[in-house]
Amino acid sequence: MAAQLLEGKVIADKIKEALKKEIVSLKEKTGLCPKLVSVQAGENPASSVYIKSQKKTAEILGIEYVLDTLDADITQEGLIDKIIALNLDAGVSGIIVQLPLPKGIDHKLVMSAISAKKDAEGMHPENLGHVLLGDSELAPCTAQAAMQLITSTGIELYGKEAVVVGHSEIVGKPLSMLLLNKFVTTTVCHIATGQRGILPEHVKGAEILVVAVGKAGLIKGDWIKEGAIVVDVGINRVGDKLVGDVEFESARDRAGFITPVPGGVGPLTVTMLMRNVVSAFKIQHKI
Ligand code: NAD
Repeated sequence: MAAQLLEGKVIADKIKEALKKEIVSLKEKTGLCPKLVSVQAGENPASSVYIKSQKKTAEILGIEYVLDTLDADITQEGLIDKIIALNLDAGVSGIIVQLPLPKGIDHKLVMSAISAKKDAEGMHPENLGHVLLGDSELAPCTAQAAMQLITSTGIELYGKEAVVVGHSEIVGKPLSMLLLNKFVTTTVCHIATGQRGILPEHVKGAEILVVAVGKAGLIKGDWIKEGAIVVDVGINRVGDKLVGDVEFESARDRAGFITPVPGGVGPLTVTMLMRNVVSAFKIQHKI
């Protein structure tokens, strides 16, 4: 039987409804509006797509969204000074720095300059530390989105076998911690696993499989364990279509649940960004 589709938009809509109500009540309580400032250094078509979707989602929810576009020739010091000014501005609840940054700017240094309390993306080292400790309030958005999709299945996670393919700082590593925090037995695979040729072996044992690599068709449908939960984070352009990292049709025949690409993780990632802004607002106002 074909797997049930895990549609991010449906789950995102439910979370957005709850957030909308919470924002109304926070505004009544404080007389203030949560505000997200997006910093973009130079124009970039890829980040412009994300900015459009962030702005639209923020507006729907009642979060103020301000795009701060800086010259492409800004220096690292200039960018960090800008962030420090935003950190000190009591009216700013969350800050997001759009990537990629101009050449020569160390993005890790820039990200770390954002106050941990205003870290909308949940990528500050302090917040990543809390993900590891299992008490995070601001966690990386895509990792949270993948967790939301997994928990939406209603399947008991305790003791399950998960395989996360991809060990990036924004997805694979934090997600593996979020899964471990739920007592999921978690294996993380990466490029070296692929190079050793043992990726299929790992994937075949996964009751929960999350793939975040960025290679179309990397995961073959016949590697999928019968009934598995499959979350495909990958986004790849093939011709005029967007596809994930998992061979969708053949994987759908074996999985229990599977995310479509597009329409799976993407719509939830931007919702998690907004949820982080609301959490940041509450942290700053001690609510
Ligand atoms: P990344 O490039 O930072 O990391 C890629 C990971 O894949 C690395 O851990 C690498 O070791 C691993 N890898 C590469 N080749 C491999 C192979 N042959 N076998 C096994 N592992 C291999 O990527 P990222 O930033 O985590 O993004 C991954 C994908 O997820 C991309 O397609 C990106 O566009 C997508 N993405 C989607 C969202 C969303 O909201 N939907 C958000 C973030 C990233």
